[in-house]
Amino acid sequence: LDEFSLINKFFARPHDGNGVSLGIGDDTAIIQVPPGEDLLVTTDTLVSGVHFPEATSAAAIAHKALAVNLSDIAAMGGIPHWFTLALTVPAADENWLSDFAAAIHRLADQAAVSLVGGDTTRGDLSITITLLGTVPRDRGVKRRGAEPGDLLMVTGSPGLASLGLDCITGNTVLDSAISAACVDKLEYPEPRIAEGRALREYATSMIDISDGLVQDLSHLLEADKLGAILDKNALLSLVDRQIAEDQRLDATLYGGDDYELLFTVPATHYTKLNSSWKKDFAPVTRIGEITSTDGVLLASGDSDLVPVNQRGYRHFI
Ligand code: ADP
Ligand code: MG
Repeated sequence: LDEFSLINKFFARPHDGNGVSLGIGDDTAIIQVPPGEDLLVTTDTLVSGVHFPEATSAAAIAHKALAVNLSDIAAMGGIPHWFTLALTVPAADENWLSDFAAAIHRLADQAAVSLVGGDTTRGDLSITITLLGTVPRDRGVKRRGAEPGDLLMVTGSPGLASLGLDCITGNTVLDSAISAACVDKLEYPEPRIAEGRALREYATSMIDISDGLVQDLSHLLEADKLGAILDKNALLSLVDRQIAEDQRLDATLYGGDDYELLFTVPATHYTKLNSSWKKDFAPVTRIGEITSTDGVLLASGDSDLVPVNQRGYRHFI
């Protein structure tokens, strides 16, 4: 199977409008960007053994490679539209490629994004996706923008993915149903696209949680030299009560790979956000408040405020 038949067999599909004038097969794709919209551009690479365990299925790898990029567009309040796929594989294994392609096309269809090009090379397994999206002019929600007194909120249950990884590596043993749910969260994260778009109306700042809540929170805070007080009970409420409190809290604060949205809203918007929040959206939980003094503190109700350590996933330390 040579490079070109591989592309045709697994990746080229008739394109479907969505602003694509020319898709896979030429020197570049040609895309019509809607007037009045800003173009959002993001890239993420997944490397075998770094971003996923080597035994991960082709379907889970494909899903995650696209999902992490979708999550970045979601975190701007944008709508994803087009992506390219730079695929480096050790061999043209047709079963692997077929599973990989099916999973990429499945999530692409679900998120209404079109594969418009890419590159195919031989080497150690690595997947780079560049995703393009749009947002109405100047409406993208940035990391910078929180104000002291804003409420800090998250979608879903950050922490589950890292518990899933701990189950896979044998670092922890959980009830089998909980373990399966956590591994599913790790391998098949659901990018919060509709939620991010809805939050455009409310959020003063937003980021997706890829490296851990505390670490990604520090990016929001650093942008404006702010601090935060986290509510321990709210954090504990996010993850199944059968899991020990310490483990739950640790996973929620420091676990990466969840791709939930972390955002701030003015306190005056809280009631309206909750009442307008759609039933099919991931739930949102208020987990703390932004303060004007830097540093992150944990409030547990019955004792003093405790400083929260900075810790999370970093590549170069
Ligand atoms: P070029 O030499 O001009 O870079 P390539 O031979 O690398 O073109 O690719 C041929 C066409 O197939 C291009 O349109 C490219 O975007 C597309 N393509 C290559 N690999 C992939 C892939 N893995 N997924 C989707 N499209 C791909
Ligand atoms: Mg090329």
